[in-house]
Amino acid sequence: MHRATKIVATIGPASSTPDILQKMIRAGLDVVRLNFSHGTADDHRQRAEMVRKCARQAGREVAIMADLQGPKIRVGKFENGKTTLEPGQPFILDAECELGNDERVGLDYKDLPRDLKPGDVLLLNDGLIVLDVARVIGSEIHTVVRVGGDLSNNKGINRQGGGLTAPALTAKDMEDIRTAMSLGADYVAVSFPKNATDMEMARQLANIAGAPYGIKPKMIAKIERAEAIPALQEILDSSDGIMVARGDLAVEVGNAAVPALQKRMIRMARDSHKLVITATQMMESMIHAPVPTRAEVSDVANAVLDGTDAVMLSAESAAGKYPVQTIEAMAAICLEAEKSEQSELDKDFLDRTFTRIDQSIAMGALFTAYHLGAKAIVALTESGSTALWMSRHWTHVPIFALTPREGSERAMSLYRNVTPLHLDTSTDRDTALQQAVEVVVSKGYASRGDMIVLTVGEPMGQPGGTNTLKIVRVGDVL
Ligand code: PGA
Ligand code: MN
Repeated sequence: MHRATKIVATIGPASSTPDILQKMIRAGLDVVRLNFSHGTADDHRQRAEMVRKCARQAGREVAIMADLQGPKIRVGKFENGKTTLEPGQPFILDAECELGNDERVGLDYKDLPRDLKPGDVLLLNDGLIVLDVARVIGSEIHTVVRVGGDLSNNKGINRQGGGLTAPALTAKDMEDIRTAMSLGADYVAVSFPKNATDMEMARQLANIAGAPYGIKPKMIAKIERAEAIPALQEILDSSDGIMVARGDLAVEVGNAAVPALQKRMIRMARDSHKLVITATQMMESMIHAPVPTRAEVSDVANAVLDGTDAVMLSAESAAGKYPVQTIEAMAAICLEAEKSEQSELDKDFLDRTFTRIDQSIAMGALFTAYHLGAKAIVALTESGSTALWMSRHWTHVPIFALTPREGSERAMSLYRNVTPLHLDTSTDRDTALQQAVEVVVSKGYASRGDMIVLTVGEPMGQPGGTNTLKIVRVGDVL
C-alpha cells in the first residue's frame, strides 16, 4: 500500500537499539528526529550512526532531523526536587536564586525579570501551573499562584501572549548545529523563531558548519511563539518548511486557537511551496497504551486531511512503551484518511501562472497524470524541486522521485506523496528512463500496460534542468 503522509519519530531511550529501530523503519518511519533538548553530542552521534545502518539494512533512505533546544525558558532546581504550589499563595521567580524552596526558585534566563510587568500571566509546565505577576523588584518576579500544582526541577516557562526577548539561537544551539552537521543531519529544526532574521541566521550557521561535510541542510521553523503567527509568511519565505509545534504554541496563544492555526499554517506552507510537519501529542496515550484513543485517531486523520506532509511523534517513540505499534497505528490512520481525500487540482490550477520551465513541466506532468489516470509519476530529479512542486497538490497518483544524489533522496523522504529512490543517471537519457521504469516496476508499483508519466532534464545532471515530459506504457520500448 502506498502511504502519502510521512511519519517523523523522535528517538530516545525507548528506541535506541538496532532491533527496535529496524522495526520502526519497517513499520513506516520516514524521518528520525534527534531532540537536542535531551542527551549529549555522543548520544546523538551514536543514534545517527544507528539510523544510517538500520536504513541501509532496510534498503531505503531515512532522513535525520536535528531539533535544536532553542531558548526554552525554565525554572531552576529545587532543594527537594520540587515544591507544591497552592492557589492564592505568593511565589517568587528569582534570577539570582541558586536552589529553590517553597518560597522561590531560580531562572535559567536571567533577563526574564526585565521582560515582565505587573498583570502579566506566566504559564509553567506546559500551562498546568498559572502565576499572576504582581510586581518585579530587581532580579525578583513576585507572583501570586492562580492555578497550583507540583512544580519540579527545570520545568518550562511561557508568557501568555508571548513577547519574551530571548534570542532564537543560544550558545548551546550554535554548538549543537555543529554537532548536527558532523553527524550528517538532513534537516535542522529551529525552536522559537520570531521572524525571518532568526531563520536566516540559523541557515547561515548551518551552511557554514555543514560545508566541510558537503551538507546544506533544509531548515524547518518551529512555529511555537505568538509573535511567529503574524510573521508566518516571512518565516515561510526564509525556511524550507515549518513545524506546527502545538505544545508551546498552545501555551502561548491558548489551546483553543491551535486547530484553526494548524489549518492556516498547512495551507500557507503548501501555497508557498514549503514543507509542513504537524507535531505534539498526536498519539500521546500510546506512551502507556498499545492502542490510541478515538480523539487521537481523529487528530492524525484530520492533519492528513488538512494536507500536512508529515505527522510527528515525540515522547510516544522516544520514551514510550510501544514505539513500533505507535508507528504502525499512525501509518494505518494516514492510509485510511488519504483514501477519502478529494483532489482539488483543477481548482488549485485556476489563475496560476508559472515562470520557470522546470515548474511548468512539473505541473504539466501532475495535471496530465491525474486526468489520464496514470499509475505513477516518475520524476528524474537532481535537487528534488520537481518532486516538491508536484507534491504541493494532492492527487492519488503516487510520485516516484529518482535521483543519483543521496542527500536529495533522504530529504525527499519528508515530502508528501513522494517515494524517493536511487537511480544512476551517468548513462544516456533513454537508458536512464528505461531504468527508471524498471525500478518502479520491480518495486511493484506498476506493471505491464500501466501508463506512467515521466519528467527529465536534457542534458541530464543539472539541478533545475527538468524540461521534458514523456508518457509511456510499461513494456513499451522507450
Ligand atoms: P518541543 O517542540 O517538543 O521541542 O517543545 C514541539 C512543540 O512545542 O510542540
Ligand atoms: Mn516546543
